[in-house]
Amino acid sequence: TTTTPQLTEKVLQDILNQNKHFAAQGKVADYIPELGKMSADAIAFSVVDAQGKVINVGDTDKKFTMQSISKIIALMVAVQENGEEAVFKNMGYFGSDKPFNHFGNLEITGKPLNPMMNAGAILTVSMIKGEGETAFQKVLKMVRFITKNNNINYNEAVYLSEKETGHRNRGMFHIMKNSGLIMGTEDQLDNYFKQCSIEVTAEDLAKIGYFFANECVRFDGDATYKNANLSKLIQSQMLVAGMYEFSGEYARRIGLPSKSGVGGGITVSVPGKMGIGVFSAPLDSHGNSVAGYQMILDFSERFNLNIFQP
Ligand code: GLN
Repeated sequence: TTTTPQLTEKVLQDILNQNKHFAAQGKVADYIPELGKMSADAIAFSVVDAQGKVINVGDTDKKFTMQSISKIIALMVAVQENGEEAVFKNMGYFGSDKPFNHFGNLEITGKPLNPMMNAGAILTVSMIKGEGETAFQKVLKMVRFITKNNNINYNEAVYLSEKETGHRNRGMFHIMKNSGLIMGTEDQLDNYFKQCSIEVTAEDLAKIGYFFANECVRFDGDATYKNANLSKLIQSQMLVAGMYEFSGEYARRIGLPSKSGVGGGITVSVPGKMGIGVFSAPLDSHGNSVAGYQMILDFSERFNLNIFQP
């Protein structure tokens, strides 16, 4: 029989030390100019265990932008408001073999592949009700609730940089306006850029992972948003599309619902158990944190967490 080690700070520190060097294989995202300023050396690893206890190692105070990780929060808010059927009326549940900013089959069926790629995420944000910045404020409020951290805000410089250079995203937005999927103004696209620019720490990400792993119950037991059906939806999307075109191989290697962002963060849900949050800015060719991936792989193997291996 195999024995799993005790979940201690020492073990997490060991995992961080062993996998840190992988960061050298990646490259900090620079297609959004402001993101290129991120330090390549900072690294953090956080776990919220099954009892809701937080364990942090590394650069725990280091803030980075959520980027695509915000898509799972927007999906939650949109489904809460409109119901799943309405949200998926014009969008698929598909996995993907295409990069996050690919147009997918927008030009063929007119419908985004899933809410985890940019096109579907932009459509999702447009379905959150309210004028101007309202939709973004709802997403921000939910991030603050889940992490129990009211200091969380968005980074204005990153937001402006995204807005200025986000031509592909603007293109997707207008194709969906053209086909009648999106009715609103460019404020809705700005809300997408703003939610991508929300700044968090690895600990915040671990708490988000815990929340979706545990039927939308917060790490401290607050059950205000408890919803087993919603957490199943979010985790299933994380599993099939959360790591973009790497999702299939990731599911094979790690077997845990996860969502990455080009800021270098990854949030992981261990269903029914814990949440994991990692940060290391250098990315692989898919836009996933290289050292982050390796730390999660090491952790999931040591603690036998792959959901396909009971
Ligand atoms: N803001 C980024 C973009 O829209 C988010 C992409 C990501 O994190 N993969 O390009």
